[in-house]
Amino acid sequence: MIYLDNAATTAVKPEVLEAMMPYFIENYSNPSSVYSFAQESHNIVDEARDTLAALIHAKGNEIYFTGGGSEADNWALKAAAAASRAKGKHIITSKIEHHAVLHTCEFLEKQGFDVTYLDVDENGLISPEELERAIRPDTILISIMFANNEIGTIEPVKELAETAHRHGVIFHTDAVQAFGHVPINVEDMNIDMLSASGHKFHGPKGIGFLYVSNRIKIGSLIHGGAQERGKRAGTLNVPGIVGMSKAASIAYEAMSENIAKEIRVRDHFIDRISKEIPFAKLNGDRIKRLSNNVNFSLRFVEGESVLIMLDQKGICASSGSACTSGSLDPSHVLLAIGLPHEIAHGSLRITISEDTTIEDADYTVDVLKVIIERLRNMSPLYEDFVRQQAENKL
Ligand SMILES: *Cc1c(COP(=O)(O)O)cnc(C)c1O
Repeated sequence: MIYLDNAATTAVKPEVLEAMMPYFIENYSNPSSVYSFAQESHNIVDEARDTLAALIHAKGNEIYFTGGGSEADNWALKAAAAASRAKGKHIITSKIEHHAVLHTCEFLEKQGFDVTYLDVDENGLISPEELERAIRPDTILISIMFANNEIGTIEPVKELAETAHRHGVIFHTDAVQAFGHVPINVEDMNIDMLSASGHKFHGPKGIGFLYVSNRIKIGSLIHGGAQERGKRAGTLNVPGIVGMSKAASIAYEAMSENIAKEIRVRDHFIDRISKEIPFAKLNGDRIKRLSNNVNFSLRFVEGESVLIMLDQKGICASSGSACTSGSLDPSHVLLAIGLPHEIAHGSLRITISEDTTIEDADYTVDVLKVIIERLRNMSPLYEDFVRQQAENKL
């Protein structure tokens, strides 16, 4: 099997699992208990919190553990909106956010908030000038993702956050695809809130965190016990927290090496597909791009058919985000960068890991070429197109 869907989830590293194991059977204590048996799990959670905080240049008491990226996004937006309600009801986000942000914004609209969804350019970039023009006296929150999960575009977060701060507006970023993959410094970048998720950087699923700067006061997400400084009650997921922190440490240690490895394989994919498959268009910015992301529109084919045929050859890829697959609507991200419906339908997302090899890429492109040719030969649209081209030449 060749796994090329690392934006959907990643494999847990053996060292990560090993770090988690003692907290299932040997020390299963509740970190909130008082006896000494619980001291170890209490300490290891504190340590994990400090480790994660240090990686983004935050403080331990600015990290709140959550059940993943979606929960962190929901909490950030709902809490920031509620806390600033007296000041205003205007929120700004973008058209290419993950559904965890977009659907939360739609929920907030039903609660009486007014949301502006910023356009992006043809590469998926959000312009700080356009953001500035959208800010109003009643704007209370701006949420723009760090890097896009479908097309891999890395946003100018520092400039966007600076713009927000110039107008005294809170800046949140969904960094689920970025954390562990690109360096992030919340201090230098003016980020007030940031969401991350363990399973996107070789940690376990169902654990994530929300960074909230001490400058910002937010309300509780879950009422109950005093965990997470009273803001998110519930017994802590000790193995998950330990695993996420271990995975983050490994990712940060190897970050520049991994980026270099991935760029080599990514660019090999991009070069071969561009050269060898006709009518293939790269989506997303060529330079400001995650090192693990390849996204192409392949005219005259259905993305779903390509995925099924790749699967028959043992290759796991995606046509957009895992959350939209199964629905027949084309990706909101591809529509936002200006692709017409029929071209957005024929898109393929390949997201590699540091373990993906050039051989994996070569095998995949060889298989893909055959699949695309076979599908196009069955396509009446393609037949018409070829006939028209021939007529134009005469
Ligand atoms: C995966 C993802 C999420 C959701 O994270 P979960 O931990 O799966 O809830 C949110 N935003 C982005 C950009 C993602 O890629």
